Amino acid sequence: MQYIKLLCLSVLLVSCSKENDENLLTIYTSRQPQLIEPLMEQYTEKTGIKVRLLSGKAPELMERISVEGEETKADIFMTVDAGVLWQAGERGIFENVESEMLNNNIPEHLRDMDGKWFGLSKRARTIVYSSDNISGSDLSTYENLAYPTWSNKLCLRTSKKVYNRSLIASMIDAHGYERTKKVVQGWVNNLATEVFSSDTQVLKAVSAGQCGITIVNTYYLARLADDPQYSNLKLHWANQDGRGTHVNISGAGVVKGSNNKAKAVKLLEWLSSAEAQEVYAGANKEFPVLKGIKVGQTLSNWGDFKEDLISVEKLGSLQKEAVLLAQEAGYK
Ligand code: FE
Repeated sequence: MQYIKLLCLSVLLVSCSKENDENLLTIYTSRQPQLIEPLMEQYTEKTGIKVRLLSGKAPELMERISVEGEETKADIFMTVDAGVLWQAGERGIFENVESEMLNNNIPEHLRDMDGKWFGLSKRARTIVYSSDNISGSDLSTYENLAYPTWSNKLCLRTSKKVYNRSLIASMIDAHGYERTKKVVQGWVNNLATEVFSSDTQVLKAVSAGQCGITIVNTYYLARLADDPQYSNLKLHWANQDGRGTHVNISGAGVVKGSNNKAKAVKLLEWLSSAEAQEVYAGANKEFPVLKGIKVGQTLSNWGDFKEDLISVEKLGSLQKEAVLLAQEAGYK
């Protein structure tokens, strides 16, 4: 009980009173409310269904849904990264959903095969370099960054971040454990300095010349793109001659304990539609999952790229191995 009370104090938008309103949906989300709110207002206007957000960190929200069980107010759990969605699926938080519209709108590799969760935006993680001291034509793959050519040139975010665990998982899938470990050891050998705690910090270190190259989610670069101070930061689409650039998702699923599942599915379906996709992905400068949606100027300036089509479900199931591999390779 104490645990729930503490969480109730820490959440941003919802009180702890239990309400029963069939025209009200509750989303527990680790996404920033300002990204989601405008879209939900649009949905309310369109359908009359109110949506409230309960914000918090993903592990706490998952724990809360588990503890609340059948009593939960959550209809939808929305978060980022296939690793996190996969964990939520493994914990039994989600209902299996069968929806033709979701299956048609969202490519198969970007959703759970049992319909537990669905990717709603794509997040590409690729190489960014400083044009002050690196020539883009020398760059190619994530794996190439392990070569001694890049000694003292590389800066990385910590492997404790799930984004890097998912990237490592994608390499384990492509190359196997031992070869991937060699790659990661090579990265560690090439580090110019200690690992960073955020993508933005590491981008600023590259721009400032502390190192030449890093690997980040592209929306962090997009946020700096309009600032002339960071105009030396350039994007390189990794692994274009091979499996393609690593892509992860933000996504959501319908919560098992929800009293309003049919309406929750309808909301997810709407989020996968053209009307919502233009806004949903664009709000955080991510890429839409639905084909044929226009992206903003910064993203279109980077040009089209070949994506790694590995099932994001696999990125989840390989998380544990990825954590172990990073440890063994000395990647902090
Ligand atoms: Fe992020």
